[in-house]
Amino acid sequence: MNREKLLDQLKRISTEGKGTKELYGEISRVCMDEIKRDWSKKSVKNAYYLSVEFLMGRMFFNNLMELGVLNEARSIFAEKGFDLNRLEEIEDAALGNGGLGRLAACYLDSAAGIGVPLQGYGIRYRYGLFRQRFENGFQREEADDWLKWGDPWSVRRESEKREIRFADMTVTAVPYDMPIIGKRINTLRLFQAEGSAEAEKISEYLYPADDTDEGKLLRIRQEYFFSAACVRELVEEFVKVYGSRFFKFPEYHALQLNDTHAVFAAAEFLRLLTQEYKVAFGDAVKIARKTFNYTNHTILPEALECWDAELVARILPEIAMILKRLQVFASREWKAKGCLVSDQLDMSVMKSGRFAMANVAVFVSGRINGVAEIHTRIIKEKLFAVAARYYPDKFLNITNGITQRRWLMLCNEELSALYDKNFGRGWREDLDLLSLRDAFQRDADVAEFAAVKRIKKQQLAEYVRKREGIALIPDAIYIAQVKRLHEYKRQLMTAFAVLRIYYDLKAGKLPDFSPTVFLFGAKAASGYRRAKAIIKYLNAVAETINVDEAVRGKLQVVFVQNYDVSYAEKIVAGSDVSLQVSTAGFEASGTGNMKLMMNGAVTVGTMDGANIEIAERAGLNNNYIFGATVTELGRIRNDYNPSEIVQNKPAVKRVTDTLVNGTFSDGGTGGFAELHAALFEGASWHKPDHYFVVYDLESYVQALLAVNRDYRNAESFSRKQLMNALHSAFFSSDRAVKTYANLVWGLDRPQ
Ligand SMILES: *Cc1c(COP(=O)(O)O)cnc(C)c1O
Repeated sequence: MNREKLLDQLKRISTEGKGTKELYGEISRVCMDEIKRDWSKKSVKNAYYLSVEFLMGRMFFNNLMELGVLNEARSIFAEKGFDLNRLEEIEDAALGNGGLGRLAACYLDSAAGIGVPLQGYGIRYRYGLFRQRFENGFQREEADDWLKWGDPWSVRRESEKREIRFADMTVTAVPYDMPIIGKRINTLRLFQAEGSAEAEKISEYLYPADDTDEGKLLRIRQEYFFSAACVRELVEEFVKVYGSRFFKFPEYHALQLNDTHAVFAAAEFLRLLTQEYKVAFGDAVKIARKTFNYTNHTILPEALECWDAELVARILPEIAMILKRLQVFASREWKAKGCLVSDQLDMSVMKSGRFAMANVAVFVSGRINGVAEIHTRIIKEKLFAVAARYYPDKFLNITNGITQRRWLMLCNEELSALYDKNFGRGWREDLDLLSLRDAFQRDADVAEFAAVKRIKKQQLAEYVRKREGIALIPDAIYIAQVKRLHEYKRQLMTAFAVLRIYYDLKAGKLPDFSPTVFLFGAKAASGYRRAKAIIKYLNAVAETINVDEAVRGKLQVVFVQNYDVSYAEKIVAGSDVSLQVSTAGFEASGTGNMKLMMNGAVTVGTMDGANIEIAERAGLNNNYIFGATVTELGRIRNDYNPSEIVQNKPAVKRVTDTLVNGTFSDGGTGGFAELHAALFEGASWHKPDHYFVVYDLESYVQALLAVNRDYRNAESFSRKQLMNALHSAFFSSDRAVKTYANLVWGLDRPQ
């Protein structure tokens, strides 16, 4: 990379009469010209990350940082009278929903950063995750037209397109390559579907509704489309060099399936080898097992993919045949191992006429990982308990991670500068250096850290003022719950806790209460009614509290609109407290918890997902753990009756009653009554209060009040925050990617 030359080129860009979009395009293109010179050739062996989601966020600032020109570019353009921060108008590339997609983005970033040859494969959606705004407190969704800013960071590879065949249509898969910049420049390759109008639908939307057969078929097409495009490319390139010596294939390729959405890649691999290259089925399975690996992300039964065999056969007859053949093959293997019939049923690839994609993944993968210690334990003991007994060596844990480049160096330059001053710059490469430096905990250091936190809070407040038109209480405790809206994440429980505190404040029961701002950010899936009702409820609670003179300046509730990666960058840096309050056993890992920790927020959380490992590393006394554990919930689950609890606890009843007693209006939608019914009568297949909101509420309120009390001693509270930041190294995705490289991909030697 010729940095001097790049800077020179940047200096030559004229800003005269140009708008944000034009300059964005021009600066990006100048950088891309330089990148293209250095774009790494594939390594001898590469790992491939197959994911239907890549939640990359805004590439502009991150890429300039990686090119080492961000600060200079800021001054170059400031001199020309153009504030580079105006490019914050550029919308995120939101080709993902939440945690799973962001994880994919963090892993690509880390791999490039530490020099691991990992290439991403996915879909180039025309529209990403919807843009959200609130209208009378209700979520409104707008199509995310991310291409209206152009796509200067991608290169269309016309000559590498491939035809993907379905029974009823042929679709062209056209690759678009995006450089992932670090020590190496790796590639994120996203396929766009071209051809007939029907064909083009395949890459139109992320997760189209799948409640009809037509919707399901479209999902199957999407999954097969990009998986097959990837596998065909790799196999055809391989054959050019090695012919049909496929036993050598795993020496050059390791494929990672990010959840089950890309499992068709394994089916396509078996199809190609056995049908086009005449490899014996058993040999093909053996090779697949040395090539494919699977990451499980959820144990929610409703999220485990199953496709009707008949639907798959309708558009992909050969793939359906392969999967059926795999079932026969698997049965034979299981019989030979002496598996009980019930165990065979449990592990079946095909169950009651449906393909169980997770079971396919478990059978064909060499290694299967969960994403936090507790999650891996649960998949080994419950979800895949039978398979774990017959194939114990397949299973391992790799706790999720986040990239410190975007989530510390880019979003918190001030804290990074403070680390530079204390440690030198080595930590940027090796985050572990942070926790070794006990010296950096003297009172003077804590004061400097506190000063940084104050600056980040002011910046966050300024950003919220610009985006939402709301002035946050300055110098209050900033408490954030930012993540997708889901009942298991229990934003509703936070709403109840906030109401409890509000009522107590008004009644004069909390005389020494430190001013507090609760910040929420969350999108609800467009078909998820109860999640949308929770958004409306939180907005109603906010509206009531924010106009009440009695708590003015003491308590404020703000639900920001369109929470995305760029918003997250501001919120994680500017928050004091991180809310991670999922029902124990439901959050596989979480990564928002790690981003907030790395920026020095203390966690108020349950013993769930990576929270457990966070508390373990930063110290229980530096975090606020509350609520029922997995074991406790297992014990009480059958006898649990939330109605009993509210009868004995009038303060709890008072807040849950607000769903049905007219305190707040749901605009006649019936949404609040539905939430109430889900808590006390049960909903669909759930028992009453399936997520134990009522059960954990009291201890949650106590944890929040403990935070409030401790915050009064500013010095010791800052120290807790600093302890979290300094012990966050384990949660770097550099560590996670190194573990994959060593234990899963066979990339332990330098490539
Ligand atoms: C990190 C991140 C998530 C995941 O948050 P969790 O708290 O782990 O669920 C979701 N959305 C965005 C925009 C993120 O940056």
